[in-house]
Amino acid sequence: MIKDLDELRKLEAFVDDPQFRARWRQIKQENKTTLATYIQRNNNLEVDVNSLFDVQIKRIHEYKRQLLCAMHVITLYNRLKANPSMDMLPRTFIFGGKAAPGYFMAKMVVKLINSVAEVVDHDPDVAGRLKVVFLANYSVSLGQFAYPAADLSEQISTAGKEASGTGNMKFSLNGALTIGTLDGANVEIREEVGPENFFLFGLTAQEVMDLKARGYKPTEYYQSNPELKLVIDQMASGFFSPKEPGLFMSIVDSLLHSDEYMLLADYQSYVDCQERVSEAFRDQDNWTRMSILNVARMGKFSSDRTIAEYCRDIWDVEPMPIDLGTYSQEEAGLKVTSIPETT
Ligand SMILES: *Cc1c(COP(=O)(O)O)cnc(C)c1O
Repeated sequence: MIKDLDELRKLEAFVDDPQFRARWRQIKQENKTTLATYIQRNNNLEVDVNSLFDVQIKRIHEYKRQLLCAMHVITLYNRLKANPSMDMLPRTFIFGGKAAPGYFMAKMVVKLINSVAEVVDHDPDVAGRLKVVFLANYSVSLGQFAYPAADLSEQISTAGKEASGTGNMKFSLNGALTIGTLDGANVEIREEVGPENFFLFGLTAQEVMDLKARGYKPTEYYQSNPELKLVIDQMASGFFSPKEPGLFMSIVDSLLHSDEYMLLADYQSYVDCQERVSEAFRDQDNWTRMSILNVARMGKFSSDRTIAEYCRDIWDVEPMPIDLGTYSQEEAGLKVTSIPETT
């Protein structure tokens, strides 16, 4: 029955079928093309649908660490500038999300991502290998196009901070692989899909607490890691904001003086894990297998299952049939018919 998400498990039987895998890849490619069309229209940017679509869409918050993802983008940019002929897997980084009106640091992160995009997207040295897109006005309607188009789902919050997350589930259910910390529902997703089909990095919640108790010194990471130091020095010197060199000093000061969300502590582990992601994506056939297994094993995350458990264990209420009448899918809002227009 279509309402029983556990039935997805039956997809596992097709993981060894080459035709099925080819069709799976084709559908992902079509979804990427739809998002690429949206990006072309709204950002006036051409993105390569064969590149890895690396997506972080969610509210902008320091604990969710969009800044860590931006620091990885800058790291790749620096590697390409230092070694223009290097063989790098092409990636399109897609960010989206709103910052609360009074949340200064979140607004600065939005500004940084857009400033990095401005530099990266206009640099012929990295063209064809690196693109950065910030989707304005992120919403559920836009999410309908962004989640199915993702190859990689960024779920990189500081361990211990995310209660659950739901974006992580939406991505995996739509065939993206996750790079993530052991935080919130990432823990259960990794258990369900299998650790071999999930890219894990970073400190655990316990390690975060222990390191804070010992006395965390972000400057030690800054001083001992040349690639990390370069990224922070570029933010501090106005490399990405030449007309306003001091623009990102609030971000730099926050990282070097407190780094409450421990980006510097997780930086190397994250960058190394992203190398494993790139290696894995080069093997499209195996990537597709992992994608299929993610979807097939996500049945547990059905909201119907969750609510049924609440009814049984907490509210002590029985299901009761109701007549939904004759609504069409369109009337019920269940069918996506067009790309949302921006206002
Ligand atoms: C799913 C969703 C979220 C929540 O995303 P998280 O990654 O769980 O933080 C926020 N906004 C929109 C529009 C969503 O669709």
